[in-house]
Amino acid sequence: MTNNQIQSIKNLSFTQLNEWIKNRKYQDFRSKQVFQWIYKKKVISTEQMLNIPQKLRDEINNYGHFSLVEIANPDESIINSAKKYLFKLIDGNYIESVLIIEKDRRTVCLSSQIGCGLECSFCQTAKMGFLRNLTVGEIVDQILFISNDISEKITNVVYMGMGEPLLNYENVINSAIIINDKNGLNIGARKITISTSGIVPQIYMLADLKYQFKLAVSLNSGYNEKRSNIMPINNQFDLNSLIKAIKYYNSATNKKITIEYVLMKDINDSEDDAKMLLETLKDIHCKINLIPFNENETGFVRPTKETISKFSEIIKVEKDVTIRWSKGKEENGACGQLYFKKIFVKM
Ligand code: SF4
Repeated sequence: MTNNQIQSIKNLSFTQLNEWIKNRKYQDFRSKQVFQWIYKKKVISTEQMLNIPQKLRDEINNYGHFSLVEIANPDESIINSAKKYLFKLIDGNYIESVLIIEKDRRTVCLSSQIGCGLECSFCQTAKMGFLRNLTVGEIVDQILFISNDISEKITNVVYMGMGEPLLNYENVINSAIIINDKNGLNIGARKITISTSGIVPQIYMLADLKYQFKLAVSLNSGYNEKRSNIMPINNQFDLNSLIKAIKYYNSATNKKITIEYVLMKDINDSEDDAKMLLETLKDIHCKINLIPFNENETGFVRPTKETISKFSEIIKVEKDVTIRWSKGKEENGACGQLYFKKIFVKM
């Protein structure tokens, strides 16, 4: 099954839904009602849409699937303020999302593809290869499910789960528009962060978009050759072109970007690495998240606490830096840092 066959009302933005409703000869106000049943009241079936005519509910059901994700790890609990959700999709594939609880923030880390084709050497998802892009509905349904599960509003969204979001650009942006829509999930654009390993043309597209979504770039080295060794995408879009695109994003949006840097022992954790990172980012308006490596089956190792603090001290002299310790053995909001063992077992 390709994603085109997974048709659903949830693939439609408010404007598209409006069109869809009008084409079926219903009055305009019905689209607002339907959208609000889905995204404000977060109903799990059309039967709960009490003020919607039965005929329209039937048309929605006949158009496609209403629920697109089904929980596959119902017994998972919140550990260290984070919870991992394993979802089964209509076509039998699995994806993961993570809920991170911090004070009054409820952040969901979303998947955008099944697997990933970019072969970063430290990444567990890369071992799956690329299976397919997620549909708009499959992306937004991850948040709807999690929000219902905790009976709370989700406040922040990061596209940092499975996959490279900017290689599923259209669906990722359309899902972010629904998440942002005041009739939809109504989460501010500045609370929605799209992460990338460095897909340069789409960074320019994002910079020129009228929506103010935030950008995070997974950099992991300031040395071009070293970066190519751990992130082969750097052979296609090298550091030079990536930094140029980031500068363009800075100036076009007037916004800071987040640089994600996964620290790996003897790979990118030396003093020289830290200095080179500062040199690379010298004209960039950014904050840096240092993420001590979450050990997995790739064989890379987390540096010692001393090395991590030394690296951070060097960066701190010139840039805002935060060390993002994992919220548990398996959860962490950064590309390639989710751990997909359960998925491999089931496939
Ligand atoms: S780190 Fe991110 S971009 Fe790289 S292979 Fe993993 S999921 Fe893909």
